[in-house]
Formats: sequence, structure tokens, C-alpha cells
Amino acid sequence: MKVVLENLTKKFPARGKKGGADVIAVNDFTFEIPDGSLVGLLGPSGCGKSTTLNLISGLQKPTGGCIFFGEDDVTELPPEKRGVGLVFQNYALYPHLTVMQNIIFPLQNLKGKDKLSRAEMEAKALEIAKLVQIDGLMERKPNELSGGQQQRVAIARALVKMPRVLLLDEPLSNLDARLRLQTREEIKRIQRETGITTVFVTHDQEEAMSISDLIVVMKDGIVQQIGKPQEVYDEPVNLFVAKFLGTPPINVFDGEVKGGKLYIGEDCVLDVPNVNDASVYVGIRPEGFLLKEDGALSCALKGVEVMGRDISVVSANEHCSAPVIRSIISAENKVSVGSETVRFDLKPNKVFIFDKNTEERIDF
Ligand code: ADP
Ligand code: MG
Repeated sequence: MKVVLENLTKKFPARGKKGGADVIAVNDFTFEIPDGSLVGLLGPSGCGKSTTLNLISGLQKPTGGCIFFGEDDVTELPPEKRGVGLVFQNYALYPHLTVMQNIIFPLQNLKGKDKLSRAEMEAKALEIAKLVQIDGLMERKPNELSGGQQQRVAIARALVKMPRVLLLDEPLSNLDARLRLQTREEIKRIQRETGITTVFVTHDQEEAMSISDLIVVMKDGIVQQIGKPQEVYDEPVNLFVAKFLGTPPINVFDGEVKGGKLYIGEDCVLDVPNVNDASVYVGIRPEGFLLKEDGALSCALKGVEVMGRDISVVSANEHCSAPVIRSIISAENKVSVGSETVRFDLKPNKVFIFDKNTEERIDF
């Protein structure tokens, strides 16, 4: 089931009598979530991710725009008529009910021709429980389960009615690091096996990058960029997107384009024949540095961390916006730790130039 958002907007009126401005939590979203895909909504806290999800689910009404599930305009439909499954960060299980009872709960109020017998409900619940691998825990209560198991129950409960769309709001945030990794792979597997169109909200770029077919990067209620994770990483439209994706994060420098050449301080680091003279921001991905004795960019060497396959060279440059530059270099390189300076050439496809005023990327 494809989901289409058309000029979707949600404005919250200012509170109190004077001062304060309206909050536009979701500002004119227009995009299509392809049938059967997993789309990650990604952005910092407060950028409008949950509001977008609540609009899709029907828990909140938009102040403008429309939502379509396939060809159906669902904008005016209440949540229970939309056929959505919802999973939240805090599981929201019924504590006094067993796992089985929690999972069959949404099936109990089916009416008319959809009404199921107890045996049919339990058979369905068991089938879904097997899919999320909790079928051995059906008689337990939520407080007898780990966080990861509770979240699987919540996912099973969201799936048991075979929703048209599955909506997950930061579902992994309450889990510890190891479980988070494992559960996100599980979610990806379950999504593939069921083929249910899924929207996954997270503020964690690594999570979004690893799980999503498409990511939607948001800031202050405005969509910044939509694309496959690798494409967005390789071709960020602006400085915000470039900074939001990648660990270690991109290194940002003040730079200058003069006569078709890009300078960081006195160092001429790249040829950029098609760029007009201007002050710019230069973003360099950690993997964009090549260690070279006569390299173009000179930095003060601060330290070297060996990480097995790679080494991390920590250096500094007065034109960098951060106190240290983090570069990731193949371990075959040797860094003489005794020296005070280190020089790099730059891989052009790992370097981005941004307009200083608009912060939009300038092609070169
Ligand atoms: P996210 O999930 O990305 O952290 P939200 O969608 O929860 O962000 O919130 C987006 C913005 O809308 C925030 O500025 C938030 O304070 C505001 N907001 C959310 N819900 C309400 C509400 N019910 N009333 C007023 N403002 C709200
Ligand atoms: Mg939220």
C-alpha cells in the first residue's frame, strides 16, 4: 500500500495570551512512500517526526493537506478505520494481560463478518508471535519479559490485524545498545517478510541509514532531503544534512574559492574550476583524507588511534569548526607519531562545498 502525503501541514497555535508564535510542526510535506518499502523519518528532537506519524495514523488531524493510502483519501478517517499498526518507544502493553491476551486484544473488537472465534484469534496471535519469535512466551505477563521481548510483543500486537501501514515511533530507544542492534535487524526482517509499508521514526542517523529503503531528513518541520541512505550520504543537499549523517561526523572548515581553486587557509586543497569566487564552508568526510608527505592540507597531529582495519588520525587546523579533525585512514598507512604536522590530500568525492549564506551545496 503506497502512502502519499500532499502538502501535509500541522500548525499548533501559540499558547498564552501574548507573545509566542505558532509552531509549524509539519510544514508542507509532499512525498510518496512506495508500496512495501520501509521509510525512515530522521531528524533531531522536535523536528516534527512524531507529528508526521500521528497525522498518518489519524491520531492527529492536519491543518492542511491530504493523506492517501493507495487511491483512498484517508485524511478525514479516524485511526481505527485506517488500518494502521502503531508501535511506540514505551511498548504500551497491558500489564495485567498475558502476551497472548495482549496480542489478540486488537482482534477482539472486530465486528460483523470480520468477527473471529477465540480459537481463530489465538491461531492468528500464535502465527504472528512466531514471526517475531516470542511464541515460547505466550503465557507470561509483560513484567516477566525483557525490554526487547516487550517490544516484540508490541510489534506483534501492531501486526496481528495485518495493517495496511505499520508506523513505528522510536521503537528501539528504550533498549540497550546490543538489543537495539538485534531488534532493528529483526524489524527489517519482519518488514521484508510481511511486505507491509512501514514508516520508522528515529533521531539516530545510523539506525535510519541501516534499516531504511528511503530516508526523509527533516529539520524544523521542513523536509530537507529524501533518498536512498547512500545517496543522501554521498550527495547531501545542504550543510545540515551533511552534518547529520555519518560517524564520526563530517569535518567542516572555513574555506575560500579563488580563481577556480579551493583554499583552506593558505593551503590550496582542490581544483574547483566551475565555482565562482566566494567564502564557503568545506565539508570533508572522515574517509576523505589521504595521508601524504607532500599532501595539500597541513594539520597539527594530535594522536593516532588504531582500530584494526583502519586507523583514526586525530589532528587540528585553525580553520576547522571543531577542535579536532577526525580522519579514517587504511591501516596500511604509517603515521610517524613523533612528527608535529600531518599532511593530507583530499578525495574529491568526499569533499562538499556549501554556500556560506544559504548553506546549500555547490556542485564542483
Ligand atoms: P519529534 O518527534 O521530531 O521530536 P514532534 O513531532 O513531537 O517532534 O514535535 C514537533 C514540534 O511540534 C515541536 O516543536 C513540539 O514542541 C511541537 N508540538 C508537538 N505536539 C504539540 C502539541 N500538542 N501542542 C503544541 N506543540 C506541539
Ligand atoms: Mg518524537
